[in-house]
Amino acid sequence: MIKCIFTLDYEIYGNGTGSLNDLVYEPTERLLQVFDKWEARFVNFVEVSEFEQIEHSGTDAAIELVKRQVKDMHRRGYEIALHLHPQWYNARFAQGHWELDYTEYNLCTLPQPRIAEIVDRSVNYLGQMVDDRQFGPISFRAGNWLFQPTENAARELSRRGLRIDSSVFKGGLQRNHQLDYRPARKNGYYWTFSSDVNVPDSKGEWLELPIYTEMVAPWKMATSKRMGMGTSPASVKSSVQKKTPVSLRTKLNRAFDFLRPGYPLKFDFCRMTLAELTSMMERVILQDRQDPDSLKPIVSIGHSKDLNDLETIDAFLSFLHQKKIPVVTFENIFANVAEVIQST
Ligand SMILES: [Zn+2]
Repeated sequence: MIKCIFTLDYEIYGNGTGSLNDLVYEPTERLLQVFDKWEARFVNFVEVSEFEQIEHSGTDAAIELVKRQVKDMHRRGYEIALHLHPQWYNARFAQGHWELDYTEYNLCTLPQPRIAEIVDRSVNYLGQMVDDRQFGPISFRAGNWLFQPTENAARELSRRGLRIDSSVFKGGLQRNHQLDYRPARKNGYYWTFSSDVNVPDSKGEWLELPIYTEMVAPWKMATSKRMGMGTSPASVKSSVQKKTPVSLRTKLNRAFDFLRPGYPLKFDFCRMTLAELTSMMERVILQDRQDPDSLKPIVSIGHSKDLNDLETIDAFLSFLHQKKIPVVTFENIFANVAEVIQST
């Protein structure tokens, strides 16, 4: 029983550059047209801290369009979920660009009172964006996928009603940020957890629905589509590196992360070709035939700033329709998954 969940990271570039209209509003309008055509819904991971800062500083008039879009999506059954890059909260706008506070890059490593403050502020602002008093997000994705060490951040997020995380990508490793999702490779398609997102805990109140990955040889990462994306986070990172010297240790860590026999290729509906998307799903379908009764939520990721090939997304939704694979949101399957957990 396969269910496919599309998730969109809704944000400008990670270094604070780019316009809301070009990287958020317009591309998402085009994606909504495709999903409306197939009567499908996706999960919108709204990176709230940048929107709050941009609104308060008045640096981009398109913030009004973005707020209207989020509110409209909520009304139409798209799931509005919380995504957080905390480096925005102490950001300053000076000489035409944003200076972000990289000492607050990982929510999980901040002092507990600061985590609590950031969680409250972000959930409150998201509530204002959707303009619905009843609303509270249930799903979370950490900035740069950093949900380690998990315990303190999970506690504060659950205090505000969040229950589902989708930050893990199995096999993930970033030595510079102490991110290590290699232990999660032995877990199932989803699991409950409490104080460590890598470790299943049958009594945990959190549910992990990881971004689907396949381990591939590093050279397979370099398809012409991924390499041709001028808007890739990798190209932004390299432009940032030119301004700030990067230590040899940092560079070596990145090289060691990449030089592994197997590298986790994320199921990315913006960066993969149609042939890659369908063949990855065909392999899941083969696994499902061995065990058709168990639920297999397959989470795909995309970024609003990478939405420049809508034809592929349209064709992939057509493929899922032909294969009778439902496209759902986390909210849609939450009750279902809770039942499955209780029965195991
Ligand atoms: Zn992000």
